[in-house]
Amino acid sequence: MKNLDWSSLGFGYLKTDYNVRCYYRNGKWGELEVSSEETVTLHMGATCLHYGQEAFEGLKAYRGKDGKIRLFRVEENAKRMIRSAEGVVMAPVPEELFIKAVKKAVELNKDFVPPYESGASLYIRPLLLGLGAQVGVKPAPEYLFIVFVSPVGPYFKEGFKPTPMAIMRGYDRAAPLGTGTIKVGGNYAAGMVPTVLAHEKGYSACLFLDAKEKKYIDECGPANFFGIKDNTYITPESTSILPSITNKSLMQLAEDLGLKVERRHVPEEELATFEEAGACGTAAVISPILRVDDLDEHKTYQISKDGKPGPICEKLYNKLRGIQYGDEPDTHGWVTLLD
Ligand SMILES: *Cc1c(COP(=O)(O)O)cnc(C)c1O
Repeated sequence: MKNLDWSSLGFGYLKTDYNVRCYYRNGKWGELEVSSEETVTLHMGATCLHYGQEAFEGLKAYRGKDGKIRLFRVEENAKRMIRSAEGVVMAPVPEELFIKAVKKAVELNKDFVPPYESGASLYIRPLLLGLGAQVGVKPAPEYLFIVFVSPVGPYFKEGFKPTPMAIMRGYDRAAPLGTGTIKVGGNYAAGMVPTVLAHEKGYSACLFLDAKEKKYIDECGPANFFGIKDNTYITPESTSILPSITNKSLMQLAEDLGLKVERRHVPEEELATFEEAGACGTAAVISPILRVDDLDEHKTYQISKDGKPGPICEKLYNKLRGIQYGDEPDTHGWVTLLD
C-alpha cells in the first residue's frame, strides 16, 4: 500500500498511478488502453465541450478487514451509464466493457485503496466524452471512455451529523421531461448557482422542488431525498430525479428491516411530518437532514429535534456500509470481489 496519510484524506482529487481509456471510432469500441497521463487531448470542436455530450458515473471500491477489495453494485452503474449515453445520443459503453474498465482501473491502483481502519475508500469516476471536429449540433463521430480513481476520506470527518438544507424556488435543476433522470454534466451546470448560494448561506445543499408545479420534493443537488415516518421509508417519484443506486439499496434494506417503502409524490408540507429525513448517494451513503428552510416562503421544517441522526437513518447507514466493507453478509449479491 502507498505511504499516504489515509486518515487526513478529504473528498478531492489525488493523483494515482494509472487510468484506463477506450476510444469509439468508425462505429466500434477499440481496446482498453492503460495511461499514466492525467490530461486528455481533444479537438476544440468536440461536442462534449460545446453541447454537453458528456456523461459520468461515480462508485467506490472498499477494502475490507480481510484486506480484500470490493465493488458495490457496479452492474447498476454500467446500466445507468448506458441510459445516460442514450439520453444525449452518445455511443453507449457496453456493460462488460464498463465493468472490465472499472476493475482494471482499481487493480492497477490497488495500492491506493485505503486500509479498512481508515474508513476511507477509493472513488471511481467513469467518464464518457463526445469527440471530433464539429460545429453543428449533432452527435459526435467519436467517443472517449475514461475511468480514473482517487482515494477519498470518510465523508463524515466529525461523525455522522445532520445538516440544514434550503429550498430556493427561483431555480430549477431539471425539467419534468428533460435530462434529470440521466447522469450528465448539464444537470450540474443548471444547479450550480443555487448550490453555491446555498453553501454561502450555510446550508449543506439545495433541496430542489419539481420544476412544473413547485409543490413536490425532487432531490438534493447530487443526492436523492428520503423521509421516514410511521415505520415507512418514503422517497419521491418524479420524472426529473436521478435514480440513485444508494436509494435503491436503502429501499431494499428498509424493507429487510420491516419498514414499508413508498415511492410517490412528496409535497413540501409533508416535511413537517417526517420523524427523520436524509439525502443519499455514493459519496456520503446518508446525510441526515437537520432542517429544511424554504427561503422564499419563509417556512422552516425542523426534522431532527436533538441535532442527532435518527435511529432508522443510523441503522440503514450502518447496514449499507457494513455490506460495502464486507462486515455484513452480502445477502442481495451486491458486492463484486476483486481477483
Ligand atoms: C449520482 C447522483 C445521485 C446519487 O446516485 P448514487 O448512485 O446513489 O451515487 C443522486 N442525484 C444525482 C443528481 C446524481 O447525479
